[in-house]
Amino acid sequence: MPETVTGQGTAKTSTTFGKFFLPGPTEVRAEVLDAMRGPMIGHRGSSMEELVARLQAGLKVVFRTERPVYISSSSATGLMEAALRNGARRKVLSLVNGAFSERFFHIARACGLDAVSLEVPLGAGHTCEMLEGALGTGDYDAVTIVHSETSTGVLNPIAELREVTHAAGDILFLVDSVSGIAGTAVETDAWKIDFLLTGSQKALALPPGLAFGVAQEAILRRAERIPARGVYFDLLEFEKNIRKNQTPNTPALSLFYALDAQLQHILSETVEKRWERHLAMARRTWEWVDWMRDAGYELKMLAPEGFRSPTVSCIRLPDGAPTGTEVTRRMKARGFTIAAGYGTLKDATFRIGHMGDHSVDELNVLLGELEGVLSQ
Ligand SMILES: *Cc1c(COP(=O)(O)O)cnc(C)c1O
Repeated sequence: MPETVTGQGTAKTSTTFGKFFLPGPTEVRAEVLDAMRGPMIGHRGSSMEELVARLQAGLKVVFRTERPVYISSSSATGLMEAALRNGARRKVLSLVNGAFSERFFHIARACGLDAVSLEVPLGAGHTCEMLEGALGTGDYDAVTIVHSETSTGVLNPIAELREVTHAAGDILFLVDSVSGIAGTAVETDAWKIDFLLTGSQKALALPPGLAFGVAQEAILRRAERIPARGVYFDLLEFEKNIRKNQTPNTPALSLFYALDAQLQHILSETVEKRWERHLAMARRTWEWVDWMRDAGYELKMLAPEGFRSPTVSCIRLPDGAPTGTEVTRRMKARGFTIAAGYGTLKDATFRIGHMGDHSVDELNVLLGELEGVLSQ
């Protein structure tokens, strides 16, 4: 009796929802996991085209764009590579402020580009003045940037930085908004972002395995003049196929079903309400950190005010406190998942991924447990 099995599975999953606060992959609702049990269909047939057309309608709302939203059966790193292979001929300026922006820089180099990094300390973001100064020093044809740097909890002001970039010449602005999209305001078209990419497993609260990208005309025109774009991440192929509601190669169909279910959920909440809910969770976390400090426990947000991501918080621990690794271990023992710091910040910080489908109520329970493990 498959129904009974599914029913029990669903009930079991939903009673535990709200304990998994990793900054990616994030917790996925049982309804979305169940949607992946849909049947296999051919990817050149009309059923697939109907599915992709429906997904496009929802994705355009989430991405605030009139352009098609490419769906890549890869993780987000694949589309970071696509951004560079299609958008840069020669010289790239990479804004680096953590592990993922460093990865963007590394990919540029690995693609044989002449990449230069504009690095700021971990916990900081980039300002317009810095970018203006750096762009004046070289003949760049693309800028890479991470919107929400998941390793430090820093949100970069991409709307303003895009203006500075375009004012400096024919320079494409390539944005990784992997932990931004669906968790904080992104106006892909209005902010004139030449290429914007994300992955399925962060604020969209889907299983890992899909990446999404929006290409404006400027990057497609650039790509036409770059002969060696490769095959799997050729944006012109994505563009040609999505016009027919198809994908260049066999899509991860089961994940498309999950996306279909999750888009209905996101649209019924509305994108704006989703942004507000994330901001409310972030504000609650910042207040809690202040409250802990007032109570004598010297916690501190790594990112300064004005540069904090609404989707992920990186919190610095005082000397003598348990390490980030120990805090996550103790939380695990209580049935909750959070993350230690990333890279060199592993022990000095811990991170809470308050993104996806979580609520302030669930976050409050988590913060209560954290209080317990920090003083235990
Ligand atoms: C998670 C993440 C990535 C990497 O995504 P993969 O899906 O592992 O390729 C890239 N950038 C940011 C900001 C991320 O948070």
